[in-house]
Amino acid sequence: MRYYVLDRGDSLSVDLTEQFHKLAGEHGFELDAESPEIVVSIGGDGTMLHAFHTFIDRIPSIAFVGIHTGHLGFYADWKADEIPELIKLMSGQGGPEAPKPRIVNYPLLDLEIVKKSGTTSYVCLNEFTLKSVDGTIVAQVDINDELFEMFRGDGICVSTPSGSTAYNKSLGGAMMHPTVEALQIAEIASINNRVFRTMGSPLVLPKHHHCDIYSRKEQNLMLTIDHINLPIHDLLSVRCQVARQKISFVRYRPFPFWQRVRNAFLD
Ligand code: NAP
Repeated sequence: MRYYVLDRGDSLSVDLTEQFHKLAGEHGFELDAESPEIVVSIGGDGTMLHAFHTFIDRIPSIAFVGIHTGHLGFYADWKADEIPELIKLMSGQGGPEAPKPRIVNYPLLDLEIVKKSGTTSYVCLNEFTLKSVDGTIVAQVDINDELFEMFRGDGICVSTPSGSTAYNKSLGGAMMHPTVEALQIAEIASINNRVFRTMGSPLVLPKHHHCDIYSRKEQNLMLTIDHINLPIHDLLSVRCQVARQKISFVRYRPFPFWQRVRNAFLD
């Protein structure tokens, strides 16, 4: 098996990476930074975002596994002291009782960012946000090529289902099961009064719909794509839609989503 490991850089995560390499070597795994079949993220959900973007050009041929070194994550299901067990299952030596590994696929968000200076495409695992740098943003939101609203406020967040527990949740968006093929639009501090009006509640679009956000004044903006910040002064529009490709996670044991939600936010 060809594998690669990315860690958060703190001492525990670095130590675990060393432990992983040692055990992986003993089980005949091959370290491969160019074309791994499995990418292991050691750290938190933020580390998985880095792993995803590091291998953004190889997403269809990779399955990700997350080991968390802090609190239980949404993308990381293995604990720091479980690496020997994980390696056993990865090498097929889990014994007759071990459940068969399963691949789960989560939808991603496709972006086409059109600037005066050119067009660029991106894929997000968590979300895309459009935020003001120096004052209220003015943006026209179209859904399926029809004017939906003229937005004024601090910004707009468009999240994937698996990103719905991240920034989207802080904005009052709904938590969605990560396999639902949809995107969610949430407002960041919209202005609503007798003159300016927005919907004021999060919207969920199915995979065959798209939304376009048009910049409607000269404005300095910050676009975020997961953990990546892109300052931009010449934005024309952003098209958002559910991506054709999905991210794959390999599950060597069950990892029920609603249990994770409960552990993360209630327990
Ligand atoms: P960060 O500011 O260091 O971490 C943000 C927090 O979001 C961390 O606790 C991270 O968990 C958690 N997180 C990431 N993905 C998640 C998910 N899918 N579900 C639940 N929690 C999640 O930034 P970062 O580590 O570079 O991560 C960038 C992400 O931060 C963005 O994609 C955005 O979702 C989130 N963010 C949230 C807010 C907000 O809620 N107000 C504001 C800005 C950005 P770990 O500790 O396990 O890494």
